Amino acid sequence: MKKGKKLYEGKAKIIYATTDKDLVIQYFKDDATAFNNLKKSTIEGKGVLNNRISEHILSNLGQIGIKNHLVKRLNMREQVIKLVEIIPIEFIVRNVASGSIVKRLGIEDGTVLKEPLIEYCLKDDNLGDPLIAEDHIYAFEWATKNEIEKVRKMILRINDFMIGMFRGVGIKLIDFKLEFGRYKSNGKTEIILADEISPDTCRLWDSVTDKKLDKDRFRKDLGDLIPAYTEVAKRLGILHEQSNVSAVNVTKLSSIKKRKWNESVCNYHIKKRCFRPTG
Ligand code: 5GP
Repeated sequence: MKKGKKLYEGKAKIIYATTDKDLVIQYFKDDATAFNNLKKSTIEGKGVLNNRISEHILSNLGQIGIKNHLVKRLNMREQVIKLVEIIPIEFIVRNVASGSIVKRLGIEDGTVLKEPLIEYCLKDDNLGDPLIAEDHIYAFEWATKNEIEKVRKMILRINDFMIGMFRGVGIKLIDFKLEFGRYKSNGKTEIILADEISPDTCRLWDSVTDKKLDKDRFRKDLGDLIPAYTEVAKRLGILHEQSNVSAVNVTKLSSIKKRKWNESVCNYHIKKRCFRPTG
């Protein structure tokens, strides 16, 4: 299987064709954006960490029967994934109120929800990914009732699994975003989990201190994003404790020069020390 031409470039990832028509390569960029592209930066090493964290979570979900697009990780920044037709909806799952729901409904930040709350947003950057009702999905035929029923069942299992996984390593899963796609194989179409699950797409708070270990460090100019994502990776057992991932302060890009994360350093860690063998 060989890498082909670029098919699509998003805010944080690039999709390339391959010589296998059913498979594509997903490349994780270091670019970070927030507030509908109004805030932009490049955070060296972010893509590498998200690639590993997402691989870890999706392969674990696969082991509990959640079908997903991950085939295998290729290298530091790339994964082979199944080509799907993405359902144009962002499925937001909330266990604790934070972020947009706090502003929209005036709920106090950190309020624990009695049940997981699933929200739907239309995937449309030009419109700012607006919140929609389930009826909009059927009215505009973005997905069928049968598909949404399947997706909701998968979401609740994914949420239960991820809450437990993160709780076990001292992290609260506040909320996250999922995307699903239609995968066609052998004349059949099935709904599978797609995109990525990483600190870019989740809110993760330390269980004891409530320290934010996710993309809110970029959104809110808290700095130290790479150390936070590294902490998540270490706690999940992806990186060994002694690994030394350089700190990059996202608000001061000049600091990158002082302690530069680069692929060769990272490659060294992967080969010599940091990463456990897969499986
Ligand atoms: P909120 O609606 O509070 O902004 O986001 C809820 C959750 O979904 C957060 O964990 C956030 O990271 C994730 N999320 C929502 N929309 C997007 C998006 O367009 N990109 C990414 N990376 N995450 C999103």
